[in-house]
Amino acid sequence: MSRLNYLTEELAQLEAKGLRFHLRVLEGEQLPVARFDGRRVINLSSNNYLGLCTHPKLREAALDATRRYGVGSGAVRTISGTMDIHMELEQRIARFKRTEASVVFQSGFTANSGTVGAIIGRDDFIVSDALNHASIIDGARLSRATIKVFPHKDVNAAESILKEIAARPGRKLLITDGVFSMDGDIAPLPDLCALAEKYGAIMMVDDAHASGVLGKNGRGTVDHFGLHGKVDVQVGTLSKAIGALGGYVCGSSDLIEFLHLRGRPFLFSTSHPPAVAASCLAAFEVLEAEPERIEKMWENTRFFKAGLAKLGFDTGLSETPITPVMVGDGRKAMELSRALFEAGVFATALAFPTVPEGKARLRTIVTATHSQTELEEALAILERVGKENGVV
Ligand SMILES: *Cc1c(COP(=O)(O)O)cnc(C)c1O
Repeated sequence: MSRLNYLTEELAQLEAKGLRFHLRVLEGEQLPVARFDGRRVINLSSNNYLGLCTHPKLREAALDATRRYGVGSGAVRTISGTMDIHMELEQRIARFKRTEASVVFQSGFTANSGTVGAIIGRDDFIVSDALNHASIIDGARLSRATIKVFPHKDVNAAESILKEIAARPGRKLLITDGVFSMDGDIAPLPDLCALAEKYGAIMMVDDAHASGVLGKNGRGTVDHFGLHGKVDVQVGTLSKAIGALGGYVCGSSDLIEFLHLRGRPFLFSTSHPPAVAASCLAAFEVLEAEPERIEKMWENTRFFKAGLAKLGFDTGLSETPITPVMVGDGRKAMELSRALFEAGVFATALAFPTVPEGKARLRTIVTATHSQTELEEALAILERVGKENGVV
């Protein structure tokens, strides 16, 4: 009798609801058409927006850094694990984002959880969009502040909360995803910045899915809306469009220095291998040198969204390459995803708790590297399998 038997029972319950799944295994590179579990599929399930995961310049930079520096950094940043290329990358990111300074964390997840947990405390308030990323939610919990959630993108509701807590002592943090990871819609950032200004709240945006996607050369939502100087804390990831791994925070030099001293993942978890820092540096060069990648990604996005709409699929509120195909029931979404995979299209199903109950969906992301022919093939398969499964 194992003391972990309750986990076996919980797995059986998930199975009964059709929500148990296994990990798809990628055999080879993260390409627009790739082999998963032994099958060639059109890959609509990666965050490799610009194809940088396999870009020759990033690959060379990683190999070169490995030859020069080895494979590991050997320590956390605050002991002996700060290498010159880590510093160079942070300066590069700050320049790109047009902020005073930046700090890199091991992931976007730790950038959010480490930052919110560090700059906000028990006597403070966090005003947070209902669909913010799990790493923001975890950071908010770690801070022990009072958490006030406003309905998705509801600026009036956010204002009511800020008004209600205005007279209470404690700092206020207004926080939103820039692009929402499950729906692909864009935050009402200009209105939220105005609220932050009016009520003296700290403004923080998580641009994980906006970096490399929106704004000039992919500078993110702050640049997209022309809000430079209005957002106190900008988070981004190096794991999606940038193609490697990591997260970063941009803002004033005092914010960044404070995170060096109090950002727990920065203090207590080892820094990136040299190859990661070098790949990211090369990625920022590519963003500036090859803007046509971003244009191509948007062209593909428009083509694919128009195709889905013509076939009668409900793509929700998406305004970015993240394009959900709404299904509703979790089991049905999982079944549709499995049938599509068998037919040659990899589109991940997302169900509760990743998305709200009753809002299960497939999530598709087209990239700069898909060809129009591949997208046409994907649409044809989606039409056939969608009809067979009663989704259109
Ligand atoms: C993916 C994502 C993260 C986490 O980024 P990683 O670098 O993968 O840890 C954080 N926030 C949002 C909104 C994301 O979509």
